[in-house]
Amino acid sequence: MEQNELIRIENLSVTYDGKTALEWVNLSLSEGEFVAIVGPNGGGKSTLVKAILGLVPYCGRIEFAPEVADRAAIGYMPQMNNFDRAFPISVGELILSGLQGDKGHAWGRYSAEDKAKVAEVARLLGIYTLIDKAIGELSGGELQRALLGRAIISEPKVLVLDEPANFIDPKFEGELYELLTELNKRITIVMVSHDEAAVRSLAHRVVCINRTIQPSPAY
Ligand code: ADP
Ligand code: MG
Repeated sequence: MEQNELIRIENLSVTYDGKTALEWVNLSLSEGEFVAIVGPNGGGKSTLVKAILGLVPYCGRIEFAPEVADRAAIGYMPQMNNFDRAFPISVGELILSGLQGDKGHAWGRYSAEDKAKVAEVARLLGIYTLIDKAIGELSGGELQRALLGRAIISEPKVLVLDEPANFIDPKFEGELYELLTELNKRITIVMVSHDEAAVRSLAHRVVCINRTIQPSPAY
């Protein structure tokens, strides 16, 4: 791998039940970048980020630099329609679950330091007053903020966001993008997005995926 390279993907392909979702994907991610992944519905954007996270079986090669070799070094905010809202946990517990390690699931088993971190992240995302609320009672935008909290609490080196603003209310959307710009000063970001304006203003590089990497649209 080159210097500054964090993740290198070579000849990646993913098939679901014999159906090809991705093939011949080559992509390299360098430290400090903000990369946007765009493309049509069903084009394989979520599949690509899941492969990076090791959440789907794939063929090909994904290489990680030593500083991101540990799974906890990569924060992940999944696309929200894939998230089970009926899961009976609170906002605080959801954010806490982003701290890796085998601490069990109960709130009570986490240290005061961990809980202080949760409070800090919740405050940053404007959901501090919701900390004890069950996630099933949240609006889409509130749940999306909590998912972002889970993704950033471990202070990852790389942050992977799959359509983070889908359910965010317009008022918080601007704040979210400001926050991502701020985070990008120390965290490398990969963001799947349909939001052209956001992509244009935030990303250093746009990668268009439709089964494989397409020539980039003119952003
Ligand atoms: P995007 O995020 O760009 O909308 P996806 O990565 O979700 O695309 O999906 C790519 C293709 O793979 C689509 O045809 C989708 O139907 C299929 N697919 C995604 N996940 C699964 C799965 N778990 N099982 C079977 N097919 C899937
Ligand atoms: Mg998707």
